[in-house]
Amino acid sequence: MEKSELIPIWSEVKRELRELLPDHVFYSWIEGLKPNSFEDNLFVLNTVHAIAPQIIKQNHNDTIIKAFKKVLNRDIKYSILYDDDLARQYQKDMKKEAAKSRLYISNEEEQSARVMKNLTHMQSVANLDLKYKFENFVVGNNNKRAYGCAKMVSENPAEKFNPLFIYGAPGLGKTHIMQAIGHYIIFNRSDLKVRYVKTVDFVNEFMSKFSPAADGRFKNVTPEISKFRQKYRNFDILLIDDIQFIEGKGKTIDEVFHIFDYLLNKNKQIVITSDRAPKEISLPERLTSRFIKGVVVEITPPELEVRIQILKNLAEVRGTFVEQDVIEYIAQNFRANVRELEGAFNNIVTFAEIEGEKITLEYAKNVLKCELEKKALSYDVIAQKTAEFFSLKIDELKSSARAQKISKARQIAVYLCREMTGGSWESIAEFFNKKHTTMIYARDNIADDIINDKELENTVNSIKNLIEEN
Ligand code: ADP
Ligand code: MG
Repeated sequence: MEKSELIPIWSEVKRELRELLPDHVFYSWIEGLKPNSFEDNLFVLNTVHAIAPQIIKQNHNDTIIKAFKKVLNRDIKYSILYDDDLARQYQKDMKKEAAKSRLYISNEEEQSARVMKNLTHMQSVANLDLKYKFENFVVGNNNKRAYGCAKMVSENPAEKFNPLFIYGAPGLGKTHIMQAIGHYIIFNRSDLKVRYVKTVDFVNEFMSKFSPAADGRFKNVTPEISKFRQKYRNFDILLIDDIQFIEGKGKTIDEVFHIFDYLLNKNKQIVITSDRAPKEISLPERLTSRFIKGVVVEITPPELEVRIQILKNLAEVRGTFVEQDVIEYIAQNFRANVRELEGAFNNIVTFAEIEGEKITLEYAKNVLKCELEKKALSYDVIAQKTAEFFSLKIDELKSSARAQKISKARQIAVYLCREMTGGSWESIAEFFNKKHTTMIYARDNIADDIINDKELENTVNSIKNLIEEN
């Protein structure tokens, strides 16, 4: 088929995909694809991102097939190929764009400065940080439920999901999303009083209201305490961060209980975050049961696609152009904590600025070397956990045994060694006593099968969890 015929087909399919996929997926991975050929029922697309074929196939395969079917009325196959020349051109264009957008941003900033001044005042009363808004929160499978609930609460405070309880490991965006709710409400509902408070500050503020009496005991209700109570009962939206800090703090626990009860009865919105699920915090049942009265959502570590998007956003905010291979390298190596991911990126950019160096992949690797060595996941742990999962011994994975169970487990271990550490093929081959090409074959085999084999995907994810828990 001629190129000129491909373009309208692809435009139609893109239009479908625009509807079917979230914005960040569409704009990061789909919009830039270029149709290349359509022969023998195989539609070939080119991409400028080396990692795009893997990401798109793994995450959006069904949606793409569906979109083609809608347009062409039949099932087709498609393939995405990385195109070197196109990539070089793209990198050049991006550099130009980055230079332009720096000018553009400064203009826009001036314009919005006036609006911001008012809002900033309100936000400082609410104790919010301007960095944490919905606009710069990247949504992925790991946080889409929390994001949905947060949006719902922002648009309809105290109607549904009250309290909203968000939990997850440190550095995964709980504070960010909670404060985004605050910003949204201040911006759209100036009649509502919003307050964000860290639980630690809440505890300290509360305890400071108790003055010891002459006998060394604390007096019960002082005017100071009444004022404190009044203050918290007055908010329409109370955002209380890291609630696990009240564990074991008897007086504060009672206080929180009374404040929550009061606010919920008055139909005020409460949002809570914690590093654990409600039942895992050791608190009296009467308080835990308040936590779970509304909705409880978890945020888990972000997948690669989300990590890449977070880094791209950071680069844009800093007005720095960072090559795709550097972005991918950072994203591959920092998986479990967005704060660390951002820290790694900021280190590279800052060092490069100070040292006047260009950010090449080699430069980035150099800056992060120490940090990575510290957290390097050893192949040993990966092989050990994989062996355990299949009730095998690690030596069996390293042997040349060909029994199906062993060889499958070995392939998964190889796949995970490469996926989770980004280590070289040579080092992986050495670890498993195998040829370099055998390792690549093993990885590719799992990577291909996992696309259509849900059971395999679950197995791999379970092993990954075991390794990450280690
Ligand atoms: P937590 O409260 O869960 O420990 P934070 O909300 O403090 O985590 O997030 C840590 C850092 O990671 C913050 O700078 C935050 O902006 C950033 N971050 C986390 N998740 C996202 C996301 N989905 N999109 C953009 N930034 C994120
Ligand atoms: Mg936090």
